[in-house]
Order: sequence, then C-alpha cells, then structure tokens
Amino acid sequence: MTQQKLQSKDSVNTDAILVINCGSSSIKFCLIKPATGETLLSGLAECLLSPEAKITIKRDGEKQSYKLPDAFDHQTALSVLVEQLQQLNLVKDISAIGHRVVHGGEHYSQPTLITTEVEQSISQLAKLAPLHNPAHLIGIKACQEAFENLPQVAVFDTAFHQSIPEKAYIYGLPYSLYKDHAIRRYGFHGTSHYFVAKQAAKQLKKPLAQCNLISAHLGNGCSVTVIKNGESVDTSMGMTPGEGVMMGTRCGDIDAGIIFHLVDNLGYSIADVNKLLNKESGLLGVSGLSNDCRTLENAMLEDNHVQATLALTVFCYRIAKSIASYSASLTQLDGLIFTGGIGENSSWIRAEIVKQLGLLNFSLDEEKNQATRFGASGNIATKSSRACLVIATNEEWVIAEQSAQLLTNLAK
Ligand code: ADP
Repeated sequence: MTQQKLQSKDSVNTDAILVINCGSSSIKFCLIKPATGETLLSGLAECLLSPEAKITIKRDGEKQSYKLPDAFDHQTALSVLVEQLQQLNLVKDISAIGHRVVHGGEHYSQPTLITTEVEQSISQLAKLAPLHNPAHLIGIKACQEAFENLPQVAVFDTAFHQSIPEKAYIYGLPYSLYKDHAIRRYGFHGTSHYFVAKQAAKQLKKPLAQCNLISAHLGNGCSVTVIKNGESVDTSMGMTPGEGVMMGTRCGDIDAGIIFHLVDNLGYSIADVNKLLNKESGLLGVSGLSNDCRTLENAMLEDNHVQATLALTVFCYRIAKSIASYSASLTQLDGLIFTGGIGENSSWIRAEIVKQLGLLNFSLDEEKNQATRFGASGNIATKSSRACLVIATNEEWVIAEQSAQLLTNLAK
C-alpha cells in the first residue's frame, strides 16, 4: 500500500480500525471505532508456535476461545480472526490496521503508513528492540496477507517522547556512541502517557498545550514521564525499557558496576545477566514471591510477609523519587496521573507514593483513593493538594484515532 493508492477524502471509511499488538508468541487485537473509542471486538491469540496455541475473542461481554489448528502461527491466528470477523459481518467496517510498534528510533515521531521502506527501517531498529520489532514485523506481514486491500499504519511507543530535549536524552557516555550508534534515551509507553495526558487536560479543563503533568504508568512495565505544555520532556525508560523505576520483573536503574561484578566474580554470563535484570528482578526478585502486585499486597497485609513488604516499599520509594526528580524539568505543575494496572487499581501503592511527595504539595483524600479503582477515574487529591488523577489508559484507542487521522490527512 503506498500513499498514492489512497483515494479521495470522502471515500476513506474510518468506521473501525483493527488495532494489532504483535509479540513473538502472541497477538492482541481490538476492533475499535476511532471517533468514540467503542470496542466492537477484542481478544488475544497466545502461546503461538506451540501446541497450546489458542485464540480468545471477546464481543458484547462474551468470551469464546478456540484452539488453533495446526501451524499455530501468527498467520493461522489471523486467519481464524478474519473468519470470525466475516461471520460477524464486521470485515466491511474495517478501514485500516493500526500496529503498535515499540521502537521507532529517531525516525518516527508520528504515526506512519507502512511501506516497504518503513518495514525495512522497523527491521533496522530491531537492534534497539530485539524482542519487539521483529515480532511486530511478523504481525505486519501476516496482516498484509490477511487484509491485503487495507492500509497498515505503524504507531510507535517511542514517538511521544521524540520531543524530549538533548539534555534529557544524552547519556553521560562518549558522544560518538550517540552519533554513530544511536545510543540515547528513547522512552516507551508513549501512547499511554499521551492518552492519559489528553484525558487529564479534559478533566483540568485546560488545553493540553497548557498542561504540565507528571504521569506514572504502573503496570508490569513501569515508567514515569514529565509533560511540559503538553509535550514529553523527560521519561524514566531509556534506550530500552529496562531503565528507570523498579518494575514487575525488571530491576530499573542499578549501578552498572554490579554487572561487571556478576560477570567477573560470580560466574554469570552476559545472557544470565540479561535474564536476571529483565526477568528475575524487580518486585519478583526482591519479594522472592511474585511480580504481581495483588499477590504481594495480600501477602503483606494478610501474612505480614517481610520480603513482600520490602519489595512494595522499595517500588513505591523509587517511583516517588522519580516523580520528585522531575520538578527539575518544570516551573509549574498541574498534577500527577496514575495509570496502568497498578496505578488504576492499587489504592495502597498510590497512597504510599503520594505520602512521600508532600514537598511537592501532594496529598490524597483517603476515601476518594479507596473508591477510585477497577476502571473508575477521577481526582483523588485533597482540596489543598495539587490534582492526583487516576485515569484508565487506552492505548488501542490512540492507535485507532491516530491511524484514522493519518488516513484522512493522506487522502486530502
Ligand atoms: P501490562 O504492563 O502487562 O499491560 P497491566 O497494566 O495490566 O500490565 O498491570 C499489571 C499489574 O497490575 C500487575 O502487577 C497486577 O498485579 C496489577 N493489578 C491489577 N489489578 C490490581 C489490583 N486490583 N490491585 C493491585 N494491583 C493490581
């Protein structure tokens, strides 16, 4: 699909966008109306490339799972999805496929129509995101076959952070590593931070371009972003999603000297270190129990589990410290946003973080904090505090909206 192939503005149908988030063994999908965010259908194909491969499709509150036929691959999963969409008479409503792509490097600060050149550059960027970009390309290829007449759009997780200034993206390393090898901070979760900032602007009744916010996306992966006049100006994740605050299984910032110590004195290989820092650390590593916040909160509150308590305490302190550090990027601050599975649901974690932010004039209304969970949103701060907003993120809606907008612009 090239830009030239798009037709006149009137003929661009943006009724619904199929949003695809393709991992190495999974595809998350969601058919969504860009104008309203209404989800017509969603689901997950998981355990791909294994005999356990299955696809679950949710529609109108009902869930159906199908074991995938032989091949168990991304293509098979998409063909089952297409079949279901056909049976439900939904294929005619799809105007484009919007792909979440984790790494867009410095090339992409905007959603982009996928052409052969764009695929090549997503592939070249795989050296910065070896786990994600190759998987996205598999999804793109499979969608091109399954939906050959539809435009495919890439929406990059790094794009929102392309506005961060040099002082925030340059590491204290020899400058040639940036110039010659693109080693710099990129940041991730950009689509989520952008969505919640836009929602916060609505709640604060101000244009986004006048909003100064700190956004904490706390899920399995966690990142904190500072938004000045509606644009990201710094973020905690770096060249990879490993940097910044502590997460479910990732350690976040550590002294780089620990890596040499592990390799030189404790017999770790580089592959072992990679696994340790990304899969065995964070909440899981410190607690020795789980990466799941609910399990840890239960263990702490019900069993007085010492390591679960420590893991959650370290987690909250490091997030509070990261939030406070961003006062260096702002001269004004409208409020703090909590989002992601933990940010949207855990009143204990929100309280523990905010109680360490008194110097920034944040304090929580305990009742509102307890009540704002499970999809509820709102300001949980006391009257005298700056705003503390809980906002449910919706990255799929942003991807659908931006894909539809791009197609409309290209057809003008
Ligand atoms: P991902 O980054 O994989 O999208 P999510 O945003 O879904 O992750 O967040 C997953 C995290 O949210 C898990 O640690 C989970 O324990 C936590 N979580 C979900 N619901 C609750 C809850 N009610 N209380 C505390 N934590 C919760």
